[in-house]
Amino acid sequence: TNDYSHLFKLLIIGDSGVGKSSLLVRYTDDTFSGSYITTIGVDFKIKTIEVNGVRVKLQIWDTAGQERFRTITATYYRGAHGIIVVYDVNSAGTFLNVKRWFEEIQQHCPTAVAKVIVGNKNDCPETKVISTPDLKTVADEFNVPFVETSAKDNVNVDLLFNLITEEILKTKRSGGQSG
Ligand code: GDP
Ligand code: MG
Repeated sequence: TNDYSHLFKLLIIGDSGVGKSSLLVRYTDDTFSGSYITTIGVDFKIKTIEVNGVRVKLQIWDTAGQERFRTITATYYRGAHGIIVVYDVNSAGTFLNVKRWFEEIQQHCPTAVAKVIVGNKNDCPETKVISTPDLKTVADEFNVPFVETSAKDNVNVDLLFNLITEEILKTKRSGGQSG
């Protein structure tokens, strides 16, 4: 039986090494590994949550070895309700590429799809190079919500998935997306 009101397909994209798989594993298994995670990516993980009184089943897709531009296939994007774009707050290059990831989304998702920008690895002030105001500027430019996370220390990870779910529900209400 279906004990949820919505099933949403989420994608996690962004440069290699920014912690996409780590965020997913932290969220669904509440674990963290110090090494690169290569085993996820062929599949998705499921988690059912309640946001604003609505029960939502999240089908969350990771990417592995596809993190160069134009290598993620149209199939992967098809039917996505929400896309989480991740960069590493300690790496300016991964932040610059956020813009390119948005261009990719634009090409693959002609209808409105909910998006969130995530600055991950926000657990070492000494190495942080992208400030919160830098993030806010870009997020405002794209008109999307943003959050800084740490998969390692489990900071704002639940919040991130609540945020994208709320954004999807908002997008649906405004008639941007069906299904
Ligand atoms: P992906 O290629 O984007 O999927 O990145 P991974 O999840 O495989 O993580 C790449 C590396 O960054 C691994 O060594 C992780 O342990 C590390 N990492 C991931 N998230 C964090 C984080 O929040 N903080 C720190 N300090 N390291 C992280
Ligand atoms: Mg990965």
